[in-house]
Amino acid sequence: MKIAILGDIHANLDALLTVVEVLQRENVDAWVQVGDIVGYGPEPSACIDVVRELGCVTCLGNHDAAVLGRLDTSYFNTVARAAVHWTAPQLRPADREFLNELQLVVQRDEFTAVHGTLHMPEKFGYVLSVVEALESFEHQQTPLCFVGHSHVPAMYLRREESPRDIHVVPHSEAEISYRGFDRLLMNVGSVGQPRDEDPRAAYGIVDTDLQIASIRRVHYDIESVQHKIREAGLPEVLANRLALGV
Ligand code: ZN
Repeated sequence: MKIAILGDIHANLDALLTVVEVLQRENVDAWVQVGDIVGYGPEPSACIDVVRELGCVTCLGNHDAAVLGRLDTSYFNTVARAAVHWTAPQLRPADREFLNELQLVVQRDEFTAVHGTLHMPEKFGYVLSVVEALESFEHQQTPLCFVGHSHVPAMYLRREESPRDIHVVPHSEAEISYRGFDRLLMNVGSVGQPRDEDPRAAYGIVDTDLQIASIRRVHYDIESVQHKIREAGLPEVLANRLALGV
């Protein structure tokens, strides 16, 4: 089975359509989306439409929860909060219904999807290092777990016989074999707002037959989305940061 994983789309339709186009050439069997479809970017409803049309297995992100009024935005920085307040009234009733039905953790036979971590999904903590990966692994019941939230890709691997000895692949673009490991925790990075100083859209793809996991990057039309962000009256910094990947 080939699984395509999208994360932190953040209403960036230009990036999303580019990633989907590339992935559609891969004969993907399943699509997963690890949260934050909306927030920051100018086209939230159109991105929700794409996610729904693809039939993505989808979990709830903190921005998705915030636009529904289900998360206290006093923890958000000023720009993130401004984006939440811009996004909420843009959503159609059907968008709100769709987001409202998303769960924090979604488990299938082969994989689990969560926005932050499995040990405290409702807190939206970040997997930034082995410390959080170790804790999340304690709650991972499937061979694969896909996360997002940090907008920085990385892969963590665990062997059954040495569960405290985590192997880390910190690269923002990588292809690895996970044969011999019983657990893979994959932070797929961000489609719509990468923060690893690589402005290209990030996404994940896993072949469970070959046991190969990849983080890939693709160029998209950044100027197009920057133009839309400015036209929408969203904070200027949201346009500027996309070109820098921060
Ligand atoms: Zn995010």
